[in-house]
Amino acid sequence: MVNVPRSHPRYVSLMIRERLVEAFKEGIVVPEGLMAHGRGEAFDYILGEVTHEMARKAVRAAAALLLISEKPVISVNGNSAALVGRELVELAREVKAPLEVNLFYWSRSRVEKIGELLKSYGANEVLLPIDDAEEVPGLESSRRLVNRRGIYRADTVFVAMEDGDRTEKLRRLGKHVVAVDLNPFSRTARAATVTIVDNVVRALPELTGAVREMRSAGREKIREVFESFDNERNLKEFIATITQRLDRLASYGEPLSD
Ligand code: ATP
Ligand code: MG
Repeated sequence: MVNVPRSHPRYVSLMIRERLVEAFKEGIVVPEGLMAHGRGEAFDYILGEVTHEMARKAVRAAAALLLISEKPVISVNGNSAALVGRELVELAREVKAPLEVNLFYWSRSRVEKIGELLKSYGANEVLLPIDDAEEVPGLESSRRLVNRRGIYRADTVFVAMEDGDRTEKLRRLGKHVVAVDLNPFSRTARAATVTIVDNVVRALPELTGAVREMRSAGREKIREVFESFDNERNLKEFIATITQRLDRLASYGEPLSD
């Protein structure tokens, strides 16, 4: 691992890259995952690498949705296992949901490695798309392979750094989707029921915190938090924020990181 000086202005961002490179060497992350991270980073850079108020609003709606769901499932891919594996295990415990490995670049060994990693973090149940595999109809990528006891029968699926195809198909099957995606323009962001536009590294602790905080509220109150959320409006606010920040940059105003 390279030595990144703590004083570096992009320290956190550089450490995230290091973690992904390590996970790549361990066979958890694929090279394509490193590139997908790059797309996310670009948006994070423009957004100032902070959690915006709109993201907090989405976090509360996501927490509410996960709490009122009967069969929530936490879907995990290589990048999310590498960056927030422990936090995903914690979230799963808080909402009493199983974790399920779901990969675009599928290999049995990677599926198993990610499953083992989550177990090493204390996961109770990790479902794999191997033994009880079913298919999401209409989906051609390997992401179609889902566990019969997990995503296949879930009413709500949590996804991070997702490909838009599966989100669209899951929605068409009548399932709710909670997505974490730094790109408010992506098909995932548009198709999900609740999209948290934030880096998973910041979003996960926020989400688990919100679940803990909200849990003791009445069911009706929780439902209200979810129902009063408008995903399209939230995404439009993010797009307006991006436009404003780029305008500032274009006029050579304050630098973007604030
Ligand atoms: P879609 O198919 O939904 O239009 P895409 O083809 O851009 O999206 P992929 O490249 O498959 O999606 O997945 C990467 C997505 O994950 C990107 O939208 C990217 O912004 C997002 N992303 C990458 N790293 C992070 C991160 N650390 N936190 C949150 N989102 C991230
Ligand atoms: Mg895509």
